[in-house]
Amino acid sequence: MTDWIAEEHRYLFQNYGRQPIVLDRGDGTRVWDVDGKEYLDFVGGLAVNVLGHAHPVVAGALAEQARTLIHTSNLFYTKPSIELAKLLVEHSCLDRVFFCNSGTEAIETAIKLARRWGHDTKDGAYEIISMNDGFHGRTTGALAATGTARYREPFEPLAPGFVHVPWNDLDAVKAATSPKTAAVLLEPIQGEGGVNMPAAGYLRGIRDWCDQNGLLLIFDEIQTGIGRTGTLFAYEQEGVEPDIMCLAKGLAGGVPIGAVLAREAIAAHLVPGDHGTTFGANPLATATGVAVIRHIIDNDLSGQAARASERLMNRLRSMEDRIPAVSEVRGRGLLVAIGLTRDASAEVIAEARQRGLLVNNVRPNAIRLMPPLNVSDDEIDRACDILEEAIVAVTGSPK
Ligand code: PLP
Repeated sequence: MTDWIAEEHRYLFQNYGRQPIVLDRGDGTRVWDVDGKEYLDFVGGLAVNVLGHAHPVVAGALAEQARTLIHTSNLFYTKPSIELAKLLVEHSCLDRVFFCNSGTEAIETAIKLARRWGHDTKDGAYEIISMNDGFHGRTTGALAATGTARYREPFEPLAPGFVHVPWNDLDAVKAATSPKTAAVLLEPIQGEGGVNMPAAGYLRGIRDWCDQNGLLLIFDEIQTGIGRTGTLFAYEQEGVEPDIMCLAKGLAGGVPIGAVLAREAIAAHLVPGDHGTTFGANPLATATGVAVIRHIIDNDLSGQAARASERLMNRLRSMEDRIPAVSEVRGRGLLVAIGLTRDASAEVIAEARQRGLLVNNVRPNAIRLMPPLNVSDDEIDRACDILEEAIVAVTGSPK
């Protein structure tokens, strides 16, 4: 029998810390490894698998488009990208869409758009303020915006023109603003940083500051978007609208895609020749995106995620009361983290995996759960039972 992990170690870059199982197939919230062991998947492809694994809507759209037209380049118009752009515009506060292939590429596009706008309208303003503990991707521009020094430092010098300020500190944004500032970039809820919630009024305060000072507000909704937090986009629950929004992850239910949405007057600053990408707006990805977004809207899966969240959060919060090692439960919708009083999350996720639940440790002391939007009550209950058993087994906390 092939030792897939040994082969991986032999042939691939060793840049990922992978969990030691080889996944073979999936169905909804369940996956099986090559040995046939079944798991509940609460990693959800890192917030990508919004409809779960092997969903007929995703599989059907992919198969149909594969038989019709996979790729053309952007030298031509194709229907699926236009349909997906129309859907996104009709269901958001923004007017125009640019498609790319990943989250980091969406951020690169937003950075270029903000700088082009600053170049054209704000005396060459180019600086972007972003947040400590924020995460925006691994390419050098998005990495420069990322507020975690250990990700950035080994690759410096990165693109200049980024200023990092503490999360949830409006005064720090104000103090960092200068005539060179073009935009403020942040996640409405910090995902990779540990599922860090915005303080009440923080996003509103930033919006107002941007308005008062002629700055663009860029929301990175790559993790929070596509129904994840209980509405199609997280900004809707804050009553704060961005000027530019980045999407990726769940947008095509597992097919690689990214998108940048912007207000009309801002998008107009990118003109032919300024920006592009070979695979962007690819019919395979955008046709799948149309099917996924329609399915989410028609079946109110955002609302379903909000209801599922209540059950999940209640179950996790009951652990907070009963298990001393559980310090906190935070999140919104199906972007949830459970905090531990000590750095035991690596052991807990290993223990949970043994018991048939996949989760990831977003911090040494925090475990993140991001199941599909259509996760069932039974799956939530089972996942919480396993997680509780794993935490108790690792920390020795009494039940
Ligand atoms: N922005 C946020 C908020 C993310 O969570 C991520 C990925 O985790 C990215 C950007 C980068 O996306 P990608 O990995 O598709 O480049």
